[in-house]
Amino acid sequence: MTNSEIADNLKLTANLLELLDDNPFKIKSLLNASFKIDKMEVDLETLAQPELEKLEGIGKSTALKINELNQTGTTTELQELLNKVPKGVVQMMAVKGIGPKKVAMLWKSLEVESPGELLYACNENRLVELKGFGEKTQAAIKKSIEYSLSNEGKYLFAEVEDAAESVLQHLQQKYPDELFSFTGAYQRRCEIIESLEILTTKKDIDLSTVQANLPVRLEIYTCDKAQFATDLFNASASDEFLNAFKAQFTLPENASSESEIFEHAQLPYIMPALRESAAVISMAQSGNINNIIEHQDITGIFHVHTKYSDGGSTIKDMALAMQAKGMHYIGITDHSRSAFYANGLSVERLVQQHQEIDELNSKMAPFKIFKGIESDILYDGNLDYEIDVLKQFDFVIASVHSVLKMDIDKATTRLIKAIENPYTTMLGHMTGRLLLSREGYPLHTQKIIDACASNKVIIELNANPYRLDIDWRLINACMEQDVMISINPDAHSIAGLDDTKYGVYAAQKGLLTKQACFNAQSLDFIEGYFGSRK
Ligand SMILES: [Zn+2]
Ligand SMILES: [Zn+2]
Repeated sequence: MTNSEIADNLKLTANLLELLDDNPFKIKSLLNASFKIDKMEVDLETLAQPELEKLEGIGKSTALKINELNQTGTTTELQELLNKVPKGVVQMMAVKGIGPKKVAMLWKSLEVESPGELLYACNENRLVELKGFGEKTQAAIKKSIEYSLSNEGKYLFAEVEDAAESVLQHLQQKYPDELFSFTGAYQRRCEIIESLEILTTKKDIDLSTVQANLPVRLEIYTCDKAQFATDLFNASASDEFLNAFKAQFTLPENASSESEIFEHAQLPYIMPALRESAAVISMAQSGNINNIIEHQDITGIFHVHTKYSDGGSTIKDMALAMQAKGMHYIGITDHSRSAFYANGLSVERLVQQHQEIDELNSKMAPFKIFKGIESDILYDGNLDYEIDVLKQFDFVIASVHSVLKMDIDKATTRLIKAIENPYTTMLGHMTGRLLLSREGYPLHTQKIIDACASNKVIIELNANPYRLDIDWRLINACMEQDVMISINPDAHSIAGLDDTKYGVYAAQKGLLTKQACFNAQSLDFIEGYFGSRK
C-alpha cells in the first residue's frame, strides 16, 4: 500500500470515529499520523513494525494499523466502523464544507443518509434551523453536491488514455480485417471525457469484456466500409466546426479517407484536436494552419518543482532528463516561503539552490537551467519575497495557492496587483481550478489578459491534466493582445515533465501559434526576454 493510501485509510478511520463520537485523543493522534505519513519520503510498505514505531508521530497502535493495512489492505477496526455506518453517510463526509461532526448531526437529527437525500433536504430548507448550520452553510453544501453530481460519469482525458488505447489495440488485433477508430471527444483530445466513442465496421462485438477494462462508458458505432471515412469525419468534430465546414464545402461521396475529404475541399488536413471552432477553417484556407503549435516545437520547460520544495527529484536529475529529451533549457520554480505545506524556500535555502544551479550550468552548458520561483500571490496581491530577493531570479511565476474563496472583484484585483509587480514574469494556473473536483475562483478574464498585455506578463497554460488552466477557449483573446502563452507541466517528478503533452493538446484546440508560445522560442530569445524584463 502506498503512503498516501495508508494516510487515506487512517484519516477515514479517524473521521468515522469522530462521526461515532469516539475518544477525541485517539482521533487526533490518527489525524496527526495521517498528515505526517502523507509527507513522508520513506516508503512505509518497506518497514517492519519496530521501525514504524520509531517514526515521528507514529506510536505503537498506529504502527500496528499500518502493518495490518500493508498485510491485508484494510484493518479490522475500519471494517467494524464501516459496518456501523450506512455507505451513503460515509459518502456524505466527502461533501465539501461538512466534517464528521456535521454529518453526524444530519444523520441523527434529520435522518439524512446519502448525498442525494442531503441535496433534497437543502432544497427543502431543512438545514437552516439546525444548530451550527445556517443559510450560508446550507447554500455551500447544496452547491458542492450539485457540482459533484454534475461531474458523475465524467473523466479527465489523462485518466482514460491508457485504458482507451489498449482497448482499441485489443479490438484491432482481434479483428484484423475490420476498421476501428476513436471518434467524438476522445478523438478530439478534449480535456473531459463522458463516453469513449469508437467507430467500427465490425458488427455485433461482444462488449462485456471490453467495457470491464474501462472506467468510462463505452459507445460503439458501426457502419459499412464505404461509409467509414465520412462517418469518422462527421463524428470527430464539434458542431460549430461541422456546421461551418458543411456550409462551405460538400463531402465527396464514398471518401476513402478523411484526408480525401479535406483534399476535396482544397484544404490542408485539419487534425481532429483542432476541429473545434469555425476559425480553424479560415486559418487552414489562408495556409496558416502549419503555424499551430506541435509537440516537436517545444524547446524547453518552465514550472518544475524539485526536492528543494515538494518535488521528488533533484535539480540535476530533472535537468539531465530534459537534456536527454533534446530540450535546451529548464526553468526551476520551487515554492516560495509562504507555502509552508509544500516546504517553501527560505531565503537561506534559495542561496544554496542558486549556487547549485550555477555549478550545474557551468558543467551542462549550452543547456541552461533558469533560476525561477513559483511565488505565492499573497492575499493582498503582493509577492512572497522582498525586492532584493526577487531581483535574483531569472523569472518569477506568480500563483494563488491559499484563500481561494474570493468573489470576482477581489480575485481580479488580487491577480492584477501581482501582474503589475515588475518582477512577475508569468501568471501561474490562472483560476486555481481542478477539473472535475474544484471550480476555480471567478475572474474578469478580459481584464486579467489586458493587464498581462500591458505589463508584458506571460500567461501559463498549466499542462497538468487536472488543471489545463488557462482554459484553451481564452487563448485567442490572449493572442489578440500579443500575450504569450507558456505551456508548463508544473512537474513534481521526472514523469511529470511529460504532462506537457496535455498542455499541447489543449493549446492546439485554442489554435495557439508557435510564435505565441513562449517555450517554443529559441534559448536566445528567452534569455533576451528575461534580460529585458530586469
Ligand atoms: Zn502552483
Ligand atoms: Zn507548481
